[in-house]
Amino acid sequence: MKITKKILSEEQIQERIIKLASEINTDYEGKNLIILGVLKGAFIAISDLAKNLNIDVSFEFMSISSYEGSESTGQIKIEKDLDIDISGKNILIVEDIFDTGLTLSSLIDILESRNPKSIEIMCMFVKSVEKKIPVKIKYKGFEIGSEFVVGYGLDYMGKYRELPYLAELS
Ligand code: 5GP
Repeated sequence: MKITKKILSEEQIQERIIKLASEINTDYEGKNLIILGVLKGAFIAISDLAKNLNIDVSFEFMSISSYEGSESTGQIKIEKDLDIDISGKNILIVEDIFDTGLTLSSLIDILESRNPKSIEIMCMFVKSVEKKIPVKIKYKGFEIGSEFVVGYGLDYMGKYRELPYLAELS
């Protein structure tokens, strides 16, 4: 497997992050917000987003996996859970990529049972796949094709996360 095509440049991604941060700043003005980062893939998006926020915000992380190599296993595993109580809190999940929707729909189910005040989702890359589980993504970075991608936090077998752009791996 190797990088065959650059899909989104660093400039395109940074420009979009600034726009999303500005929407989030407006929507959560005067409210408390917990950004719930989904590790590991969202770590770059979260830090770029964080630098552009000017609201009352804190950051918490969960670690979830659903992929082995480049194939979905069809189930999610919580590797690291939250260590705070989210009841009555405004939660914004930040996820790297939406493929079948399994990860986000399972995560929403888990978090809703903990009675937060609100839950919204920001997802950097949304794939066009036919069999999706419907999930409402309020802040969407980019819609992309169905190819396997790496970079901007996304890996293949632990590699390529550090790339500042998004690329196709085939
Ligand atoms: P879903 O549960 O929506 O099918 O898949 C979401 C998760 O699968 C993401 O959080 C990510 O870890 C992984 N994933 C899905 N598509 C890709 C991809 O193209 N590249 C990489 N590196 N991971 C992906």
